[in-house]
Amino acid sequence: MRYYSLNRQSPAVSFREAVVQGQAPDGGLYFPESIPRLPESFWQRIEDLDDAEIAWRIMAPYVGADFSETVLRRILEETLSFPLPVVPVTERISVLELFHGPTLAFKDVGARFMSRCLSHFARGLERRVVVLVATSGDTGGAVANSFFGVPGTEVVVLYPSGKVSAVQERQIAALGGNVHALKVAGDFDACQALVKKAFADAELRSRVYLTSANSINVARWLPQQLYYALAWKQWPQKEAPPVVSVPSGNFGNIGAGLLLQRSGLPVPQFVAACNANDAVPRFLETGVLPRRASVATLSNAMDVADPSNFVRLLALFQNDPAQLREVLAATRTSDAETRATIRRVAAETGYVLDPHTAVAWQGLEQVLAPGQHGLVLSTAHPVKFPEVVAEETGAPVPCPAIVEDLMKASLQPRHLEAAYEPLRALLSELA
Ligand SMILES: *Cc1c(COP(=O)(O)O)cnc(C)c1O
Repeated sequence: MRYYSLNRQSPAVSFREAVVQGQAPDGGLYFPESIPRLPESFWQRIEDLDDAEIAWRIMAPYVGADFSETVLRRILEETLSFPLPVVPVTERISVLELFHGPTLAFKDVGARFMSRCLSHFARGLERRVVVLVATSGDTGGAVANSFFGVPGTEVVVLYPSGKVSAVQERQIAALGGNVHALKVAGDFDACQALVKKAFADAELRSRVYLTSANSINVARWLPQQLYYALAWKQWPQKEAPPVVSVPSGNFGNIGAGLLLQRSGLPVPQFVAACNANDAVPRFLETGVLPRRASVATLSNAMDVADPSNFVRLLALFQNDPAQLREVLAATRTSDAETRATIRRVAAETGYVLDPHTAVAWQGLEQVLAPGQHGLVLSTAHPVKFPEVVAEETGAPVPCPAIVEDLMKASLQPRHLEAAYEPLRALLSELA
């Protein structure tokens, strides 16, 4: 498979080059030149295949040329090392739980796949790849955990001192080894500015093999298709496919679902569930993507004003809002509605939603027609938002063993003033 830049000002590249570069030199996102079609029999008899085989059938056309079959199968097995269960909650609505990974974040799947791809590519470089990320919370943990102990890689995570939760800080700063946690005396924007400075430092980059684990990277984007395929495998009524509702921020996850629909996934309708950051609902209403600042909400991983993957959705639908609207509804849910949904679902069913999943649940309810069934993607474990959830359900959120163990781990961050030179020195040392 070749990947072209959606800005069309840079040459097409292989999967390997797209992963290593992250973004095309013209600033565009990479997009596959063709979309593979899987046969009807694959979708109809998906229950007969094991998860590893399903993953291989979907991913091989995208990455096959850059890996041997053995290597790709091993990478996929390591990527999917935890369950992704579909849990029926009401008669009409089921939840696909994507939060059983090592950092309880759905981003674990994409980050694990990317780390193993980079490790494989690093072997040909005879130099270590240094992954540099700034985080306001979840991404840092998923990336740090995914690269931890992966040969040929060093990870540097910058996070703002006092601005991440206790669980998040431990996910970043309790690992050690090839994971270097930098606690920055400054806010997230200060962290982000330092990272940008490093990527713009041509002299540094001539010596250090620096890459970002950004969510627009094709190695993080493409494996998210597997959520939808593995959900379809578990879906009990193949003759009545669900409406699939996805909590959306940068639109990578839902973009992967729509991509798999092009490969034949028999799901006719998706919901892009948004919080008060409603650029895409507005686009579907008006045909214009509004430019405005992001708004802080309870579902903070979706507080995105200008969703970076939305250009990929447009590319899938020939930049035509009318075509997009046939398959995709976009909803908006306020914080008050998010809280009310957590409260109501817990009271009526006993099932506990985190705020992101509650946004998707409420969005689904807005569009679900009588007689239709729905599937809500759950992107975070409720334990990550214990205060809000407990306020609405009236009970503390049970703590999974993985979090209890984490809270016992000791922290080992390096402290960094919000200045570039110390970061530059560390990056030079790691190369
Ligand atoms: C990243 C994230 C999202 C948004 O996913 P996108 O692919 O950016 O749309 C939703 N929920 C949680 C918990 C996340 O971490």
